[in-house]
Amino acid sequence: MTKKAIADLYFKNSSEIITAVSDNAGKLVRYSNASLAVKDGKILALGPVAKVETKVDVSEAETINLEGKILAPGFVDCHTHLVFGKSRAKEFAMKMTQSTAAIEATGLATGIPASIAMTRAASEDELFASAMDRLGRMTRYGTTTVESKSGYGINREDELKMLHVNQRLSKESSVDLVSTFLGAHDFPPEINRNNPNERERYIAQLTTEIIPEVGAKKLAEFCDVYCDDGYYTVEESLKILEAGIAHGLRAKIHTDAYSGIGGSTLAAELPAISADHLNFTSREEMLKLAERGVVGVVLPALDFAVAHPRPFIAKDMIEAKMTLALGTNLNPGNWTESMRFVMLLACRNHTMSLEEAFIAATMGGAMAIGRETEIGSLEPGKKADLQVWDIKEFEQLIYRMDYNPVVSVIKNGQIIF
Ligand SMILES: [Zn+2]
Repeated sequence: MTKKAIADLYFKNSSEIITAVSDNAGKLVRYSNASLAVKDGKILALGPVAKVETKVDVSEAETINLEGKILAPGFVDCHTHLVFGKSRAKEFAMKMTQSTAAIEATGLATGIPASIAMTRAASEDELFASAMDRLGRMTRYGTTTVESKSGYGINREDELKMLHVNQRLSKESSVDLVSTFLGAHDFPPEINRNNPNERERYIAQLTTEIIPEVGAKKLAEFCDVYCDDGYYTVEESLKILEAGIAHGLRAKIHTDAYSGIGGSTLAAELPAISADHLNFTSREEMLKLAERGVVGVVLPALDFAVAHPRPFIAKDMIEAKMTLALGTNLNPGNWTESMRFVMLLACRNHTMSLEEAFIAATMGGAMAIGRETEIGSLEPGKKADLQVWDIKEFEQLIYRMDYNPVVSVIKNGQIIF
């Protein structure tokens, strides 16, 4: 008789365990009256109680009775601008009835330049404290892994300050934090972006000075760029992303948000690990992204916050066989910490089914940051990153619009909420 594995943590009496699985793309697996056993922070077994208990010795385990609640993998929020100076609440309120030009005519700074000014003005400690506060709320909404981009410094000193905040968050918060360098989120406000020499000078500083330093100090895992009309051209984006790759940073790209200038084609050619936004992506580009395994990261909260004139259409991307991931895109212009809210928007406004949205918020997110062998689904060997929902039916997750059903969150087998 083979010896049973010994669990140190055991969740039992779940009405249902719901998860994506690695080899069943696009389909959820659901176990009724189920349990899940953990050892050393990793999943040992899950499924119907009798089956788990024949495989695993749970006699010594700390046992948590879920009393009929639903157990699911923690959300993976794969696109955030978590670290920022201050809120832009006034601008957001004015946007309800006024154009950006009219708001700017009042003297109020708007958009990314406003976030750059406020982030530059904040100390590293202030940025750390406010980001920790937001991370705490993300945890309470069921998120267990968060990607965090720089990109409101747009000079060496302030970009490094943001990445140092990421490094501290990664050490001191209870979630996993994945750092991305986005020094090409915009051009420095000091320079004239219409002057080719001034553009070239900043790009040269990025590629020959800042990116090599970020790579050498291991301050980020990914290099990202905003490739869109008015921001970085395809040619400029290629230079920046190639410099990132040369210094050990995998490529990500913000593209096709407000125009289609070929950023998705670039993402497919590299290939980047993900292409994010995708409002203006053509069918041909969707097919290329799918073929090259580039994850499409879609951001419903951004489209909602700006009342986007061309919301992304998920069903076209799914038909093209792209893997999709959802992110909050948490930033001062689109402030939400809740992946569940993002799922609701994805379903109601962007043609996703509940199942598709949940897979995109968990497994899809893990794939967009290269963590799919560790997190994103509940499978033996993966991290025990879990959330417990106090709802009777899975559908209530998006049906009850502003109800947060998360009553407990577990990271690496530790209860963090
Ligand atoms: Zn973004």
